[in-house]
Amino acid sequence: MKAARFHEYGGAEVMRYDDVPDPTPGPGEVLIRMRACALNHVDIDIRDGTSRLSIDLPHTLGFEFAGEIVALGDGVDDWSEGDRVAPLSQLHCGKCRWCAKAQHQHCEQLTMFGIQISGGYAELVVAPAWTLIAVPDHVPFEHAASVQAVFGTGWHALTKRAHIAEGDWVLINAAASGVGTAAIQIARLLGGRVIASASSEEKLARARELGAEATVNYATEDLTERVREITGGHGAAVVYESVGGELLEKSIAAMDTFGQLVLVGCHAGEVVPVDFIEMFRHEWTLLGAARATEDEFRHMMTLVADGRLTPVIADTFPLSQTADAHRFMESRRHYGKIVLVP
Ligand SMILES: [Zn+2]
Repeated sequence: MKAARFHEYGGAEVMRYDDVPDPTPGPGEVLIRMRACALNHVDIDIRDGTSRLSIDLPHTLGFEFAGEIVALGDGVDDWSEGDRVAPLSQLHCGKCRWCAKAQHQHCEQLTMFGIQISGGYAELVVAPAWTLIAVPDHVPFEHAASVQAVFGTGWHALTKRAHIAEGDWVLINAAASGVGTAAIQIARLLGGRVIASASSEEKLARARELGAEATVNYATEDLTERVREITGGHGAAVVYESVGGELLEKSIAAMDTFGQLVLVGCHAGEVVPVDFIEMFRHEWTLLGAARATEDEFRHMMTLVADGRLTPVIADTFPLSQTADAHRFMESRRHYGKIVLVP
Protein backbone atom coordinates (compact mmCIF):
# COMPACT_ATOMS: atom_id res chain seq x y z
CA MET A 1 0.00 0.00 0.00
CA LYS A 2 0.94 3.66 -0.18
CA ALA A 3 1.52 5.83 2.87
CA ALA A 4 2.57 9.45 3.23
CA ARG A 5 5.44 9.49 5.72
CA PHE A 6 8.46 11.49 6.75
CA HIS A 7 11.89 10.03 7.47
CA GLU A 8 13.42 13.15 9.00
CA TYR A 9 12.11 16.31 10.66
CA GLY A 10 11.76 19.40 8.49
CA GLY A 11 9.52 21.47 6.22
CA ALA A 12 6.68 20.18 4.04
CA GLU A 13 9.26 18.85 1.55
CA VAL A 14 10.15 15.96 3.91
CA MET A 15 6.75 14.35 3.26
CA ARG A 16 7.20 11.29 1.00
CA TYR A 17 4.74 8.99 -0.73
CA ASP A 18 6.14 5.58 0.22
CA ASP A 19 5.41 1.97 -0.67
CA VAL A 20 5.00 0.07 2.58
CA PRO A 21 3.78 -3.47 3.37
CA ASP A 22 0.02 -3.85 3.94
CA PRO A 23 -0.74 -4.04 7.66
CA THR A 24 -2.70 -7.03 8.98
CA PRO A 25 -5.31 -6.86 11.75
CA GLY A 26 -4.50 -8.84 14.90
CA PRO A 27 -7.06 -10.34 17.28
CA GLY A 28 -9.76 -7.79 18.14
CA GLU A 29 -8.65 -5.45 15.35
CA VAL A 30 -9.99 -4.45 11.94
CA LEU A 31 -8.28 -3.27 8.76
CA ILE A 32 -9.73 -0.05 7.38
CA ARG A 33 -9.38 1.29 3.84
CA MET A 34 -8.85 4.98 4.53
CA ARG A 35 -11.26 7.19 2.56
CA ALA A 36 -10.57 10.51 4.32
CA CYS A 37 -8.04 11.71 6.88
CA ALA A 38 -8.15 15.19 8.39
CA LEU A 39 -5.08 17.31 8.99
CA ASN A 40 -4.54 18.87 12.38
CA HIS A 41 -2.05 21.55 13.28
CA VAL A 42 -0.24 19.09 15.53
CA ASP A 43 0.75 17.21 12.33
CA ILE A 44 2.91 20.17 11.32
CA ASP A 45 4.40 20.45 14.82
CA ILE A 46 5.29 16.74 14.80
CA ARG A 47 6.73 16.86 11.26
CA ASP A 48 8.95 19.87 11.89
CA GLY A 49 10.03 18.59 15.31
CA THR A 50 8.64 21.47 17.40
CA SER A 51 6.23 19.21 19.29
CA ARG A 52 7.93 17.48 22.19
CA LEU A 53 6.22 14.19 21.34
CA SER A 54 8.52 11.23 20.95
CA ILE A 55 7.94 9.26 17.74
CA ASP A 56 9.78 6.64 15.70
CA LEU A 57 10.95 7.54 12.17
CA PRO A 58 9.76 7.07 9.49
CA HIS A 59 6.44 8.24 10.86
CA THR A 60 2.85 8.05 9.56
CA LEU A 61 0.74 10.99 10.80
CA GLY A 62 -3.03 11.35 10.92
CA PHE A 63 -5.04 11.10 14.08
CA GLU A 64 -8.53 11.36 12.68
CA PHE A 65 -9.74 9.36 9.71
CA ALA A 66 -12.67 7.41 8.31
CA GLY A 67 -13.10 4.57 5.85
CA GLU A 68 -14.48 1.10 5.19
CA ILE A 69 -13.61 -2.13 6.93
CA VAL A 70 -11.82 -4.48 4.52
CA ALA A 71 -10.71 -7.25 6.90
CA LEU A 72 -11.55 -8.48 10.38
CA GLY A 73 -9.10 -9.89 12.92
CA ASP A 74 -9.92 -12.92 15.07
CA GLY A 75 -12.73 -12.43 17.56
CA VAL A 76 -14.34 -9.42 15.88
CA ASP A 77 -18.05 -10.27 15.64
CA ASP A 78 -19.79 -6.90 15.83
CA TRP A 79 -18.51 -5.50 12.54
CA SER A 80 -18.53 -6.64 8.92
CA GLU A 81 -16.45 -5.99 5.85
CA GLY A 82 -17.80 -2.93 4.07
CA ASP A 83 -18.98 -1.18 7.25
CA ARG A 84 -18.31 2.56 7.21
CA VAL A 85 -16.41 3.57 10.34
CA ALA A 86 -14.26 6.19 12.03
CA PRO A 87 -12.04 5.07 14.91
CA LEU A 88 -11.72 7.12 18.08
CA SER A 89 -8.67 9.34 17.65
CA GLN A 90 -7.52 8.77 21.23
CA LEU A 91 -7.22 5.23 22.58
CA HIS A 92 -7.51 5.11 26.35
CA CYS A 93 -6.38 2.25 28.60
CA GLY A 94 -9.65 1.72 30.47
CA LYS A 95 -7.76 0.94 33.68
CA CYS A 96 -6.19 4.11 35.08
CA ARG A 97 -7.73 6.50 37.62
CA TRP A 98 -8.97 8.91 34.92
CA CYS A 99 -10.46 6.15 32.77
CA ALA A 100 -12.26 4.94 35.93
CA LYS A 101 -13.92 8.37 36.03
CA ALA A 102 -14.61 8.32 32.26
CA GLN A 103 -12.24 11.29 31.81
CA HIS A 104 -10.48 9.51 28.96
CA GLN A 105 -8.75 12.65 27.72
CA HIS A 106 -6.45 12.39 30.77
CA CYS A 107 -5.75 8.67 30.46
CA GLU A 108 -2.29 7.96 31.86
CA GLN A 109 -1.58 5.51 29.01
CA LEU A 110 -3.23 7.48 26.21
CA THR A 111 -2.33 6.33 22.70
CA MET A 112 -3.20 8.39 19.65
CA PHE A 113 -3.30 7.55 15.98
CA GLY A 114 -0.57 9.40 14.11
CA ILE A 115 1.46 9.94 17.28
CA GLN A 116 2.21 6.77 19.24
CA ILE A 117 0.74 4.47 16.58
CA SER A 118 0.61 4.63 12.79
CA GLY A 119 -2.06 7.09 11.65
CA GLY A 120 -4.44 7.78 8.80
CA TYR A 121 -1.97 9.14 6.20
CA ALA A 122 -2.08 5.67 4.59
CA GLU A 123 -4.31 3.65 2.29
CA LEU A 124 -4.83 0.98 4.95
CA VAL A 125 -4.88 1.41 8.73
CA VAL A 126 -5.36 -1.12 11.54
CA ALA A 127 -7.63 -0.11 14.45
CA PRO A 128 -8.94 -1.94 17.52
CA ALA A 129 -12.61 -2.84 16.97
CA TRP A 130 -13.66 -1.27 20.30
CA THR A 131 -12.60 2.16 19.00
CA LEU A 132 -14.93 2.16 16.00
CA ILE A 133 -17.75 4.64 15.56
CA ALA A 134 -20.29 3.73 12.87
CA VAL A 135 -20.57 6.31 10.08
CA PRO A 136 -24.08 6.48 8.56
CA ASP A 137 -24.29 6.20 4.75
CA HIS A 138 -25.41 9.81 4.30
CA VAL A 139 -22.39 11.26 6.14
CA PRO A 140 -19.51 11.88 3.67
CA PHE A 141 -16.17 10.36 4.72
CA GLU A 142 -14.60 13.85 4.61
CA HIS A 143 -17.09 14.92 7.28
CA ALA A 144 -16.71 11.74 9.34
CA ALA A 145 -12.93 12.36 9.48
CA SER A 146 -13.44 15.94 10.68
CA VAL A 147 -15.69 15.43 13.68
CA GLN A 148 -13.66 14.51 16.75
CA ALA A 149 -10.85 17.04 17.02
CA VAL A 150 -12.93 20.14 16.42
CA PHE A 151 -16.43 19.24 17.63
CA GLY A 152 -15.20 16.99 20.45
CA THR A 153 -12.97 19.73 21.80
CA GLY A 154 -15.66 22.38 21.41
CA TRP A 155 -18.39 20.26 22.98
CA HIS A 156 -16.27 19.32 25.99
CA ALA A 157 -15.14 22.93 26.46
CA LEU A 158 -18.60 24.51 26.07
CA THR A 159 -20.72 21.92 27.91
CA LYS A 160 -18.49 20.26 30.53
CA ARG A 161 -16.14 23.13 31.37
CA ALA A 162 -17.83 26.46 30.57
CA HIS A 163 -21.63 26.58 30.51
CA ILE A 164 -23.71 28.59 28.05
CA ALA A 165 -27.18 29.77 29.05
CA GLU A 166 -29.83 30.69 26.46
CA GLY A 167 -29.10 34.17 25.10
CA ASP A 168 -25.54 34.42 26.49
CA TRP A 169 -23.01 36.33 24.43
CA VAL A 170 -20.21 33.93 23.45
CA LEU A 171 -16.96 35.29 22.03
CA ILE A 172 -15.21 32.82 19.72
CA ASN A 173 -11.68 33.76 18.69
CA ALA A 174 -9.95 32.42 15.57
CA ALA A 175 -13.41 31.80 14.17
CA ALA A 176 -12.05 30.60 10.83
CA SER A 177 -10.02 27.73 12.27
CA GLY A 178 -11.37 24.18 12.47
CA VAL A 179 -12.08 24.59 16.20
CA GLY A 180 -13.56 28.04 15.59
CA THR A 181 -16.03 26.93 12.92
CA ALA A 182 -17.07 24.05 15.19
CA ALA A 183 -17.42 26.26 18.28
CA ILE A 184 -19.69 28.72 16.45
CA GLN A 185 -22.07 25.89 15.61
CA ILE A 186 -21.96 24.40 19.12
CA ALA A 187 -22.50 27.76 20.83
CA ARG A 188 -25.52 28.39 18.57
CA LEU A 189 -26.89 24.91 19.24
CA LEU A 190 -26.68 25.68 22.99
CA GLY A 191 -28.60 28.92 22.56
CA GLY A 192 -25.65 31.34 22.66
CA ARG A 193 -25.35 34.55 20.65
CA VAL A 194 -22.00 34.41 18.89
CA ILE A 195 -19.41 37.13 18.46
CA ALA A 196 -16.78 35.76 16.07
CA SER A 197 -13.29 37.21 15.85
CA ALA A 198 -10.73 36.64 13.10
CA SER A 199 -8.00 38.52 11.25
CA SER A 200 -9.66 39.10 7.86
CA GLU A 201 -13.00 40.34 6.52
CA GLU A 202 -13.29 37.26 4.31
CA LYS A 203 -13.03 34.93 7.31
CA LEU A 204 -15.55 37.03 9.25
CA ALA A 205 -18.04 36.86 6.38
CA ARG A 206 -17.79 33.06 6.50
CA ALA A 207 -18.31 33.13 10.27
CA ARG A 208 -21.52 35.14 9.78
CA GLU A 209 -22.72 32.49 7.30
CA LEU A 210 -22.24 29.91 10.07
CA GLY A 211 -24.41 31.90 12.44
CA ALA A 212 -22.19 34.50 14.13
CA GLU A 213 -24.36 37.48 15.01
CA ALA A 214 -21.50 39.98 15.34
CA THR A 215 -17.86 39.96 14.26
CA VAL A 216 -14.59 41.62 15.25
CA ASN A 217 -11.54 41.95 13.02
CA TYR A 218 -8.73 41.80 15.57
CA ALA A 219 -6.16 42.85 12.99
CA THR A 220 -7.78 46.30 12.75
CA GLU A 221 -10.07 46.66 15.79
CA ASP A 222 -9.59 46.55 19.56
CA LEU A 223 -11.18 43.27 20.65
CA THR A 224 -12.06 44.37 24.20
CA GLU A 225 -13.68 47.63 23.10
CA ARG A 226 -15.63 46.03 20.27
CA VAL A 227 -16.99 43.22 22.45
CA ARG A 228 -18.11 45.76 25.07
CA GLU A 229 -19.78 47.80 22.31
CA ILE A 230 -21.59 44.79 20.82
CA THR A 231 -22.85 43.61 24.24
CA GLY A 232 -24.19 46.98 25.33
CA GLY A 233 -21.21 47.56 27.63
CA HIS A 234 -21.58 44.27 29.52
CA GLY A 235 -18.99 42.00 27.94
CA ALA A 236 -19.10 38.34 26.93
CA ALA A 237 -20.60 35.70 29.24
CA VAL A 238 -18.38 33.00 27.74
CA VAL A 239 -15.12 33.21 25.77
CA TYR A 240 -13.81 30.32 23.68
CA GLU A 241 -10.10 31.03 23.28
CA SER A 242 -7.56 29.11 21.20
CA VAL A 243 -5.02 31.78 20.23
CA GLY A 244 -3.19 33.06 23.33
CA GLY A 245 -0.93 36.10 23.72
CA GLU A 246 -2.43 39.54 23.34
CA LEU A 247 -5.74 38.16 22.12
CA LEU A 248 -6.12 36.10 25.29
CA GLU A 249 -5.33 39.15 27.41
CA LYS A 250 -7.87 41.27 25.53
CA SER A 251 -10.46 38.50 25.77
CA ILE A 252 -10.19 38.27 29.55
CA ALA A 253 -10.75 42.02 29.75
CA ALA A 254 -13.82 41.63 27.51
CA MET A 255 -15.72 39.42 29.98
CA ASP A 256 -18.98 40.25 31.74
CA THR A 257 -19.43 39.73 35.51
CA PHE A 258 -19.42 35.94 36.11
CA GLY A 259 -17.64 35.61 32.75
CA GLN A 260 -16.13 32.23 31.93
CA LEU A 261 -13.13 31.88 29.64
CA VAL A 262 -12.33 28.43 28.37
CA LEU A 263 -8.89 27.98 26.82
CA VAL A 264 -8.23 25.20 24.31
CA GLY A 265 -4.92 26.44 22.86
CA CYS A 266 -2.47 29.34 23.10
CA HIS A 267 0.20 28.99 20.40
CA ALA A 268 0.47 32.77 19.97
CA GLY A 269 1.65 33.33 23.54
CA GLU A 270 1.64 30.89 26.45
CA VAL A 271 2.22 33.38 29.26
CA VAL A 272 0.01 36.45 29.67
CA PRO A 273 -0.59 38.80 32.60
CA VAL A 274 -3.94 38.49 34.41
CA ASP A 275 -5.36 41.26 36.62
CA PHE A 276 -6.57 39.13 39.52
CA ILE A 277 -8.24 42.09 41.22
CA GLU A 278 -10.57 42.32 38.22
CA MET A 279 -10.97 38.57 38.37
CA PHE A 280 -12.32 38.34 41.94
CA ARG A 281 -14.35 41.54 41.70
CA HIS A 282 -16.19 40.24 38.66
CA GLU A 283 -16.17 36.60 39.78
CA TRP A 284 -14.56 35.43 36.57
CA THR A 285 -13.71 31.81 35.86
CA LEU A 286 -10.66 30.81 33.81
CA LEU A 287 -10.91 27.24 32.53
CA GLY A 288 -8.74 24.88 30.52
CA ALA A 289 -10.16 22.22 28.22
CA ALA A 290 -8.33 19.39 26.49
CA ARG A 291 -9.91 17.10 23.90
CA ALA A 292 -12.95 15.07 25.00
CA THR A 293 -14.18 11.82 26.48
CA GLU A 294 -15.12 8.74 24.47
CA ASP A 295 -18.84 9.44 25.02
CA GLU A 296 -18.46 13.01 23.80
CA PHE A 297 -16.61 11.91 20.65
CA ARG A 298 -19.34 9.37 19.90
CA HIS A 299 -22.07 11.92 20.59
CA MET A 300 -20.49 14.31 18.07
CA MET A 301 -20.94 11.75 15.27
CA THR A 302 -24.64 11.55 16.23
CA LEU A 303 -25.03 15.32 16.02
CA VAL A 304 -23.29 15.37 12.63
CA ALA A 305 -25.46 12.50 11.40
CA ASP A 306 -28.58 14.40 12.55
CA GLY A 307 -27.43 17.50 10.65
CA ARG A 308 -27.24 19.62 13.79
CA LEU A 309 -23.48 20.09 13.32
CA THR A 310 -21.74 20.21 9.94
CA PRO A 311 -17.97 20.01 9.51
CA VAL A 312 -16.58 22.82 7.37
CA ILE A 313 -14.15 21.44 4.79
CA ALA A 314 -11.61 23.87 3.36
CA ASP A 315 -10.19 21.56 0.70
CA THR A 316 -9.21 17.97 -0.04
CA PHE A 317 -5.81 16.77 -1.32
CA PRO A 318 -4.79 13.34 -2.63
CA LEU A 319 -2.61 11.36 -0.23
CA SER A 320 0.18 11.63 -2.83
CA GLN A 321 0.18 15.43 -2.36
CA THR A 322 0.45 15.60 1.41
CA ALA A 323 3.30 18.12 1.19
CA ASP A 324 0.96 20.54 -0.62
CA ALA A 325 -1.75 19.95 1.98
CA HIS A 326 0.77 20.79 4.73
CA ARG A 327 1.86 23.95 2.88
CA PHE A 328 -1.78 25.01 2.57
CA MET A 329 -2.26 24.51 6.31
CA GLU A 330 0.93 26.46 7.08
CA SER A 331 -0.25 29.33 4.85
CA ARG A 332 -3.21 29.81 7.25
CA ARG A 333 -5.38 30.81 4.26
CA HIS A 334 -7.80 27.95 4.78
CA TYR A 335 -11.27 28.14 6.31
CA GLY A 336 -12.20 24.87 8.01
CA LYS A 337 -10.62 21.45 7.78
CA ILE A 338 -8.08 20.21 5.25
CA VAL A 339 -8.66 16.57 4.34
CA LEU A 340 -6.54 13.92 2.61
CA VAL A 341 -8.21 11.39 0.35
CA PRO A 342 -6.61 8.28 -1.26
ZN1 LIG B 1 -6.52 5.20 31.18
